[in-house]
Amino acid sequence: MRLILFGPPGAGKGTQAKLLGQRYGIPQVSTGDILREAIKKGTPLGLEAKGYMDRGALVPDRVVIGIIEERLQDRDCAKGFILDGFPRTIAQAEALSLALKRLRRDLDCVININIDHEELWKRLTGRRVCCKCGEEFNIYYKKPSQDNICDKCGSGLIQRDDDQEATIENRLRVYKEQTEPLLGYYQKENKLKTAAGQGDIPSVSQKIYQILEENGL
Ligand code: AMP
Repeated sequence: MRLILFGPPGAGKGTQAKLLGQRYGIPQVSTGDILREAIKKGTPLGLEAKGYMDRGALVPDRVVIGIIEERLQDRDCAKGFILDGFPRTIAQAEALSLALKRLRRDLDCVININIDHEELWKRLTGRRVCCKCGEEFNIYYKKPSQDNICDKCGSGLIQRDDDQEATIENRLRVYKEQTEPLLGYYQKENKLKTAAGQGDIPSVSQKIYQILEENGL
């Protein structure tokens, strides 16, 4: 199964991609996670990406396209993959289509997680992440049992640099301007399906599983 999980920042792409990956035994490929890992390790890729990410801008196409072209050739992607956070521009979508053609593979489906602005805002400003194990919490929806402490491993919770309010505003604007037009692109390719992103995590997962089943996936 080769899928794109699409939607604005905060829609729940990462959470749902992880669950889908476990259910179907295929990797979640998240450009955001790959870039954050590179920043943590202080690699040249991380150094280049950090400035863009901290202000909520997109990392240049050539950088993320290079990452994805390499990643999709990894062995674990042979059975399929779930793209999360890629593509984010028309140029990225075109590069993906070319890369898949070269690998003689095709995209099965693009699932757009649709959600309103107010809910997005709470999800993004409320998000807290464990500095050690990466487990996610939310001060409105999924409170840790102890303030700022991870329930899973007991380490401290932090706010992602790009979850500061000014950066969130920028990320949402960038999404509208550069990423949302991809909905038309995939609609034309007849690949686009929409799942309502409101509600708790299991109920959104159910909607996604239903879409996949309805499409024979
Ligand atoms: P995410 O975790 O998907 O919200 O991504 C966090 C940040 O990483 C974004 O705000 C961008 O700065 C950068 N990023 C992730 N994926 C891409 C992409 N496909 N194209 C450009 N920048 C990206």
